[in-house]
Amino acid sequence: MSSNSLTLAPAPRLEAAERVRAEVREFLAVELAAGAFTPHVDAWLSGVDPGFSRRLGERGWLGMTWPKEYGGHERSAMERYAVTEELLAVGAPVAAHWIADRQSGPNLLRYGTERQRREILPRIAAGECYFVIGMSEPDSGSDLASIRTRAARNGDGDWVVNGAKIWTSNAHLSHYAITLVRTSPPGEGPRGRHRGLSQLLVDLSLPGITVNPIRILDGGHHFNEVVFTDVVVPGDMLLGEEGNGWHQVTAELAFERSGPERFLSTYPLLAEFGRRAAAIGDPAQLATLGRLSARLLALRQLSLRIAAALDRGELPDIAAALVKDVGTTFEGDVIEEIRRVVEVVPSLDSPDPLGRALAEAQLHQPGFTLRGGTNEILKGIVARGLGLR
Ligand SMILES: Cc1cc2nc3c(=O)[nH]c(=O)nc-3n(C[C@H](O)[C@H](O)[C@H](O)COP(=O)(O)OP(=O)(O)OC[C@H]3O[C@@H](n4cnc5c(N)ncnc54)[C@H](O)[C@@H]3O)c2cc1C
Repeated sequence: MSSNSLTLAPAPRLEAAERVRAEVREFLAVELAAGAFTPHVDAWLSGVDPGFSRRLGERGWLGMTWPKEYGGHERSAMERYAVTEELLAVGAPVAAHWIADRQSGPNLLRYGTERQRREILPRIAAGECYFVIGMSEPDSGSDLASIRTRAARNGDGDWVVNGAKIWTSNAHLSHYAITLVRTSPPGEGPRGRHRGLSQLLVDLSLPGITVNPIRILDGGHHFNEVVFTDVVVPGDMLLGEEGNGWHQVTAELAFERSGPERFLSTYPLLAEFGRRAAAIGDPAQLATLGRLSARLLALRQLSLRIAAALDRGELPDIAAALVKDVGTTFEGDVIEEIRRVVEVVPSLDSPDPLGRALAEAQLHQPGFTLRGGTNEILKGIVARGLGLR
């Protein structure tokens, strides 16, 4: 079901969510006090800590909404949202499991075979199995339907994959890539390119796969180029229907675009700034804090409505595109507005947590409005949803 009205129904009462929120806060306070992790800006993409992921799995905070028979916990999307928010707010190292928990698991639940679900989902929920998004290619980003990675059946019914993916976050640390491939030629007409695409569940340890690192501005390694040379993927690792890849990818992107990570990547910076501004009492800093907080609260309300719609089984892809556009713009504005009112030198080596958070945020900022679909593309989706194109 598609629901793209911007007057989505109000979120349900949130008592259970507030209970789990309190538990997560307590857990995080203990972890922080023990020095188990250092908070970072944008840690949902670059803060990889398998031990932390496993500890979340042990507490039942991964695969939260999935059926128990697949290792899930049958809790509401609102409870999951509360857990997610708390982890993002402190800049916890959640990157190892993030994509598997957010979108690959739900994708498997929707399209996977019984065997795929039983083998993989419990491992994701335990915080032990990590996924990457195998969509973008060196010559295909926004124009995803133009991908050139191909898969053809061999005599044994297996898939032989050739091509390359790029910007593949954490491929060097992950187990599977849900890989969009062309399995038959495109069809005729303007939407013909959407036909003949399929998704494969590719085990990243298979022979013929090379993972080449690409460094980001802060020197960190989370990006990769993943090259496939005659990689033989077992025939039963097709995800969903052959030729239905475009439809499946679109559904996956609704999960990818709708979460609070699309406006909370710079929250650890905002929180650090807020503590400082409250202590100093400078009027310009307090005004900045007030402006940013008001925008954040409005974004949160929009995002909660989308989580509620997903909980009802709807596909609010246009509303999600809008919130991601506005949310990632906000993430960048947090940096610019704070920079104008503090006299702090941004540096990754700064002994001052505000200087460190500012440097991290600045060096990660270029990706905010690109990843998961650029803001120009998202505006195009919203315009189409409004009947303007
Ligand atoms: C931090 C980060 C993590 C990422 N992780 C992954 C990942 O794990 N897996 C994965 O598959 N991909 C990943 N990506 C890739 C991301 O999805 C692409 O960068 C994005 O879709 C844009 O594609 P591109 O880089 O090829 O830019 P292009 O598509 O070449 O676009 C270049 C510019 O042209 C504009 N443009 C293009 N087409 C149009 C149009 N029709 N109308 C208006 N403007 C247009 C774009 O908005 C952009 O500003 C990641 C990217 C980043 C930054």
